[in-house]
Amino acid sequence: MIPEVYCPDPGTVESADCGICETKMDVTRDAYGPTSSLMGMAGRKRKHDFFHCPHRKEKWHIQVKQLKEAARKTPSKTFEDIYLTEVAEILKTRQPSKEVSIC
Ligand SMILES: [Zn+2]
Repeated sequence: MIPEVYCPDPGTVESADCGICETKMDVTRDAYGPTSSLMGMAGRKRKHDFFHCPHRKEKWHIQVKQLKEAARKTPSKTFEDIYLTEVAEILKTRQPSKEVSIC
């Protein structure tokens, strides 16, 4: 699954949909810089196309990302279903159902 930010090699990907909300992502072609926090810390850079979801800073998007993460991590099938039901509801309304913190 492609996350909300995606950095493939330049020209290798035509378009990409956000892994959180399935919106077609905006793209900046031929960017140059680190594409992971590890590369950033090591001071390494590479050329890449920078795909990013236009909604990734919105509250509902942040909540959906956290709910999907929770659904993936829980060992319980019941809880997973509950999380994903709420995800579907938020994606429909694009309104957060709860105030969530950024980190
Ligand atoms: Zn998105």
